[in-house]
Amino acid sequence: MSMNLYDFLFPPSLPGTATALTIGAGDVWTRARLADLAGRIAAVLRAAGVSPGDRVAAQVEKSGAAVALYLACLKAGAVYLPLNTAYTPHEMAAFLGDAEPAAFVGQPEAIAALAPHLPEGCARFTLDAAGGGSLSEAADAQFPLVESVPRGREDLAAILYTSGTTGRAKGAMITHGNLIHAAEALNALWGITGDDVLLHALPVFHAHGLFIAINCALAAGAPMWFLPKFAVDPVIELLPRSTLFMGVPTLYTRLLGDPRLTRDLCRRMRLFTSGSAPLSGATFDAFRDRTGHAILERYGTTETAIISSNPLIGDRIQGTVGFAVPGVDVRIFGEDAQELPRGDVGEVVLRGPNVFAGYWRMPEQSQEALTPDGFFRTGDLARMDEDGRITIVGRAKDLIISGGYNVYPREVEAALARLDGVEDCAVIGVPHPDFGEGVIAIVERTPGGGAPEPAALLSGLSAELARYKLPKHVIVQDALPRNAMGKVQKAELRRIHAGIFRDGETG
Ligand code: AMP
Repeated sequence: MSMNLYDFLFPPSLPGTATALTIGAGDVWTRARLADLAGRIAAVLRAAGVSPGDRVAAQVEKSGAAVALYLACLKAGAVYLPLNTAYTPHEMAAFLGDAEPAAFVGQPEAIAALAPHLPEGCARFTLDAAGGGSLSEAADAQFPLVESVPRGREDLAAILYTSGTTGRAKGAMITHGNLIHAAEALNALWGITGDDVLLHALPVFHAHGLFIAINCALAAGAPMWFLPKFAVDPVIELLPRSTLFMGVPTLYTRLLGDPRLTRDLCRRMRLFTSGSAPLSGATFDAFRDRTGHAILERYGTTETAIISSNPLIGDRIQGTVGFAVPGVDVRIFGEDAQELPRGDVGEVVLRGPNVFAGYWRMPEQSQEALTPDGFFRTGDLARMDEDGRITIVGRAKDLIISGGYNVYPREVEAALARLDGVEDCAVIGVPHPDFGEGVIAIVERTPGGGAPEPAALLSGLSAELARYKLPKHVIVQDALPRNAMGKVQKAELRRIHAGIFRDGETG
């Protein structure tokens, strides 16, 4: 039996006349309209030479057609490779070179700059924010592909790039089986049904917005209000007509900043979930005071979709990420890769149908990511209570999560180190009232030279890096604190600069 995720998202039992997405005031996408466009795009891809297993890279704005493109890749058996629209051509070149896509779909205004980086023979299409462009034109002229290409659980559905601690991007290979497990498990755990209405305000190039939110809603037959971007006004307007909201902590702090967020506004809401980064106690408490809802915090990674969740029924305890999702074997390991007693802090490791198939063309890194017993190492530090409840206490990895986006210090440091006047540097995340963590850089100036100007360093960085990765403060000093081995003491820097975003100075 085929395990194509597409068939799981579009079972014959769900009527085509039901709404899948509503965009803006009244652009309604029934399930039949979405499936029809997905079938046509699948036919376009096939005609362009895309075979099952080939990668299809997409750097497109969030739209109904972008969802159809994702579904088309599943249907055609291709591997969907979504890329953040904030990536610069410099960053895109690395991804495209590594993934060697058979087709690329980009925004009309950006495609010319990317053309030199596309592999020879790679088909190229445009798709704009309104769903227009050469992809849609080609789709109009095709008959839809009727049957989805049969896939096994282990076949790849998508590749998502994640940089880890090294700064070198790694393509996490996600299978059809991984995603079916995540959607099935979460719909059962969170009680999602066709009676729900999901307010979708997350980006769709990341696992949370794409694999958790869209897949759960489509599989359950729950319609979505599909916001092109998160903004407070439309969320406030649509909350009274929604039952479900999936967010990252920053979205909750933004909503709390608006006095219109009240208990009455959320009267139809059934569930608010949060993930991708730690939710602060202040946000959890303030949200409950204002709306009566305890945000349900859950935990996952790109490589493993969903790992744990607070309960739908029962205590949602702030500061914890709940219990292992059914079917997922979560353990806390010590440095010797042995399981620790309950209550001890160690690395979160896990095994199960949600664990990815490894990193694209990186056999060594794929092997390093697993323990000898085949548990995926998350790099997160946590403890597990007697009853199985998990509390994350920090990250063994050096990752910064700012506004729900991952910033890998090593990548920013490497770019900074290439600029004039920079002898060495350290990029760290420190508490930020809005973004969770804010990126700052501490630069050691080249001895004997003049001190580089922070503004000049920032402008040098902005040519290379997406905006969300740029430090909000660059501090230039004579020397960085180092230990006896000459290693920069980042923990010390985090302590010194912990208050930099306090006092209303949010950079
Ligand atoms: P990503 O692969 O982009 O989803 O990032 C995964 C990382 O985000 C995890 O390894 C954790 O460090 C962090 N993360 C995700 N959800 C949570 C959460 N609820 N609490 C704390 N950290 C989280």
